[in-house]
Amino acid sequence: MAEAIVLIGCKGQTQEAEYLDVLATAMPEERIVPFRLMEQAERDATQVAIVANPDPAEVAALPNLVWVQSLWAGVERLVSAFDRPLPIVRLVDREMARTMAEAVLAWTYYLQRDMPAYARQQRAGLWRPHPYRKPADTTVGLLGLGALGIAAAERLLGAGFRVTGWSRSPKSVPGIEALHGMEALPTMLGRCDILVCLVPLTPDTRGLVNAERLAALKPGASLINFARGPIVATADLIAALDSGHLAHAVLDVFEVEPLPAESPLWSHPGVTVLPHISGPTDMPSAAGTVADNLRVYRRTGQPPQGIDTARGY
Ligand code: NAP
Repeated sequence: MAEAIVLIGCKGQTQEAEYLDVLATAMPEERIVPFRLMEQAERDATQVAIVANPDPAEVAALPNLVWVQSLWAGVERLVSAFDRPLPIVRLVDREMARTMAEAVLAWTYYLQRDMPAYARQQRAGLWRPHPYRKPADTTVGLLGLGALGIAAAERLLGAGFRVTGWSRSPKSVPGIEALHGMEALPTMLGRCDILVCLVPLTPDTRGLVNAERLAALKPGASLINFARGPIVATADLIAALDSGHLAHAVLDVFEVEPLPAESPLWSHPGVTVLPHISGPTDMPSAAGTVADNLRVYRRTGQPPQGIDTARGY
């Protein structure tokens, strides 16, 4: 039998047991052992780690790792934690893309149908209809046209929204206006009624959505951040909401999670706070994706394509 696969970084032993069970069902031919239960000889022999937000010290204690499979789509903490070049394979999973696209559509409807305003009005006992704006008259802009951005674009198009998207390299996605590169960003922002953030956190995207970029949005636009907290400059966001330029922000991700009790975002009337729930990993589906990657590795000896660590994603 091949050497064991190590599992690192579950939130407690209940989650660890659940993950082990689902992974074992997807790949009964493999032996998957939590880091904490491995003998040193097993740690020395292991070639593949399956990780969920691991402690870098545990990864560093595995001298012969060949590649690391993340159970998360965003791997910015892994990129900065590793002290040696190691292929990092992020989770690209159909079920995650479906769930994220569903979340983008749900919260787009929330904004397009003025739900934040009606919730505020109800608390004030106010009966005041707002003009209806059709999806066909609402432009949703996607920062990021990767696995999740494209799934979201397709879902929005299906619901009749106008969609524009932005990426680093040129993209062709039927039905959407796809722009790329920094020079095109102001044009893209200027079209958005709702801006959705789905870029990875990298040195280039940290603070990307700042005062200047928020000012480039249409007056009365709204923001959805489903990517990573530090991509949006919080003080600039609050200033744009307070000035009335930005109508509302739906935030699922934050600089510090859980969002600290003292954060002004909790009580800001223009902010909806979500506890990082827009695109959870679906373990049975993720385990199937990981099993496919492992089978190819066992057959060919080639690790799957890892992220580009220089680019950061
Ligand atoms: P992906 O497939 O790697 O796509 C990333 C997209 O962002 C690509 O279109 C890429 O452009 C673009 N991009 C990256 N850097 C850029 C830059 N500097 N300028 C312009 N565009 C840039 O990633 P994904 O699977 O769609 O996931 C996106 C992010 O969603 C993840 O990194 C993670 O942080 C977040 N996420 C959040 C949750 C949640 O529950 N909140 C769940 C899953 C994922 P190119 O196409 O040109 O490379």
